[in-house]
Formats: sequence, C-alpha cells, structure tokens
Amino acid sequence: MCASAAVSLRRRWFTGGARTKRRLFSGHPGIRSIKIKSKGVEVEMNVLVINCGSSSLKYQLINSDSEEVLAKGLCERIGIDGSAIVHQPAGGEKVKSEIDMPNHTKAVQLVIEKLTDPQVGVITSLEEIDAVGHRIVHGGERFAGSVVLDDEVLAVIEQCNDLAPLHNPANLIGINSCREIMPDVPMVGVFDTAFHQTMPKKAYLYGLPLSYYEKYKVRRYGFHGTSHDFVSKRAAELLGRDIKDLKIIVCHLGNGASVSAVQYGESVDTSMGLTPLEGLIMGTRSGDLDPAIVTFIAQKEGISAEEVINICNKKSGVLGLSGGVSSDFRDLGDAAQAGNEAARTALETYGYRVGKYIGAYVAAMNGVDAIVFTAGVGENNAQARAEIGKYIGYLGTNIDPEKNKLRGEEVILSDEGAKVTVMVIPTNEELAIARETVRLVKQ
Ligand code: AMP
Repeated sequence: MCASAAVSLRRRWFTGGARTKRRLFSGHPGIRSIKIKSKGVEVEMNVLVINCGSSSLKYQLINSDSEEVLAKGLCERIGIDGSAIVHQPAGGEKVKSEIDMPNHTKAVQLVIEKLTDPQVGVITSLEEIDAVGHRIVHGGERFAGSVVLDDEVLAVIEQCNDLAPLHNPANLIGINSCREIMPDVPMVGVFDTAFHQTMPKKAYLYGLPLSYYEKYKVRRYGFHGTSHDFVSKRAAELLGRDIKDLKIIVCHLGNGASVSAVQYGESVDTSMGLTPLEGLIMGTRSGDLDPAIVTFIAQKEGISAEEVINICNKKSGVLGLSGGVSSDFRDLGDAAQAGNEAARTALETYGYRVGKYIGAYVAAMNGVDAIVFTAGVGENNAQARAEIGKYIGYLGTNIDPEKNKLRGEEVILSDEGAKVTVMVIPTNEELAIARETVRLVKQ
C-alpha cells in the first residue's frame, strides 16, 4: 500500500461509524499511543505479555503497531518474605516497591496498579489492555502452535503438567490470576515447545523401549521455540531470502541454552529434550550425560537420584565445571583471564559442545546456509563465540575477529563471500509472544 493510501485509510479509521473509537493516552511523558476500533476489530492493540514462574512474574506492555515496549517489570519473591515489584516505564527509571505479595493474583493486581499509576503508569485504565499473551513452557504433543485460552484449553495444558512440573503449574497460576482480574480480556498461550513439534520421529524418539513413548510420551520436545522461530525468521529477512529456501542453525546461548536446526522454516532437530536439561552445557545445567552417571553418583554420595538430577540442573554446567567460580560468562571470562585454569576449561568445554552440535545439525540438514547466535551469551560474549568459531571454520564461515567484538546488536560476523553466513541476532521472545497474541486475537 502506498503511503498516501495508508494515511487515508487511517483517517477513515479515525472518522468511521459510531463504533469507531479513538483514544489517546500519555501516562508517562514521551509515551503517546492511539487506539482505533472499527466494527469491533482492533487494528492496534496494547498487549500485556506475562511470563510467570513459581515465585516470579515478568511483564511487558507492548503496543502492537509501533512494537514499542510501553513498560516492563518483574514481581519477585511471590509467596515468600521480602516480595517486591520492579517497574520501568519506557524512557523512565526503574522503580522498586517492596510490597507483600502472598500470591500471583496479588502480583497481577500490582502490575495493573503500576501500569495505570499517574506517575509511573503508561495507560489510564485496565480497559486499555486489549489482550494478554502468556508464555507457557510445555505444550507436550497437544500444542503445535499458540492458542486462545479458554476453560477447555486450560484443562489440556494441565494435562501437560507432569512433563514440566516446575514450570507449567506456575504458568497456569499466572493465567488464572489474569483471568480473575481481567475476565473479558482475550488471553493467548504461546508454548516454548510448539515450534519444535515439526521434528520428525527420527529426531524426537529416544533409543528406549517404544512403550515409554506410547504410554508416557517420553520423547524429545525441545524448548526456547519462540526464540528459535523469531531469530530464524529474522535471519531470513536480513539475508533477503525466503526462509523456505534456507537451512539455518540457531544457537540460543543464554543461561539456559539450546541449538536448533531450522530447515525451510521448520524445526527439524533441537538439543533440549524431554526437559531443558539435555544438550548443551549451560550456566548451571549439565546438558548431555551418560544416564548411568545418575545412579553411580547417587550411590557414591549416598543421595537419591532426584538429588543428583537437582545437582545436574542447578550446580553443574559452567558453574560446576569451573569449580564454582560462576554461572555468569562475564565472571568466567575474567577468572580465565586472571589465570583460573578451571574457568578456562569450562569455557573451552562449553564452546566445544556447541561446536559439536552445529556439526551434527549440518549433517541433519545435509548443509547449512546460516548460523545465528542469540540470547545473553550469543549476543554479547565475543570470547564464547570465538571459542565456538574454532569448530565451524571448515564450513567456510570466515568470521571477522573485529566484527566479532561487537555486542548486543544485529551483525553479520562473516566476511562477504563466506559460504556460510554467521550472524548475531538479538532475540525478543516477548515481542514474538505479543505478535502471536495479536495474530490469534484478530483471527
Ligand atoms: P540470558 O539467560 O539470555 O539472560 O543470558 C545470561 C548470560 O548472558 C549470562 O551468562 C551472562 O554472563 C551473559 N551476558 C549477558 N550480558 C553479557 C555481556 N555484556 N557480556 C558477556 N556476557 C553477557
């Protein structure tokens, strides 16, 4: 559509029939947004994105038109002594308020209070929230895409709880709290697992008796799907190519980390499994292990298998490998620089594992066009990227060491003419959830 046509269309939205509504709000200085309704169809929405953990709730209010984050924040220590909400309007300072939050419903109430607060708020009333998008960790085999949440859908999500006992119940509590406070606002669930539901059987089955898959759905699911989807689409855009022609390997390297093989726009393999413990060495998670290690250590240490799994989740990864230096790559880099041998080994072991997975996924797709780094480490940590770079040069990646020093921005690391393009693309899972929410609500 040409610019003038767009303008005249906008004018028509503004001046349309009786059901057309125009609203301006400017809760926080510098934030102005216009909302237009016509024939009951929202053309611009404010979407509240909620990511609920067992004792935390992260939120962002995103305007669908500008894709601007109007405000964001975090409720921490919900149900625990010392709970607090940290709220930040766009362009403003973070404001921390220590307030008792015995449950998630109270946390959601506080989020609404902050968003509508005359000083730090960005909207004037709850009515200006048009939809809520919820991050849900596990959708099992039941959800291959996002869904509008209603009683029936929530009952099915509940059936997936045993696959993610630490995460899904918390997600559901957050959804129910929002429904209690905003009963008329449409809600959408976006699953971490959904993008990987395109994996073929040969990629998702474990070499176990088939009956465990049939009876209990023990299989590989994969996580970080919203990020892998977002980043691979953006890579295609930046390359100016149709994603349906591309083989892309996405390395989501944050505190949790996973690699995925995205062939022609679909996930065909990914490194996380039944749970987010499989695959790469992460901040505190071990990644791939010989399963016999679990009972071996349990016997040696006189602890239960559950306790060993807890150690694999919380005390392993680069934290464990470095002998407890840190799970944070900045600290590890500093320690390695200062001559800490274990920290150096942790970084080398980490990079080697990522490099091996990239090699495996080149084989899985019989080729690769682009390799993308994203999330905290992938976007910011030149040292980790250089370490991984040692194992992918044979592909013709031609990584420029100067470009590799850049951080936190979209950048192509490969020299022009490289056979395989290596890129950094910051992920934005909240924006991806907001886009999905708008797409479904409009439908
Ligand atoms: P995430 O889970 O995506 O927030 O990523 C967290 C990881 O990213 C931590 O290990 C951080 O050390 C790493 N990270 C974040 N910012 C930087 C930075 N500026 N330089 C190096 N590493 C960083």
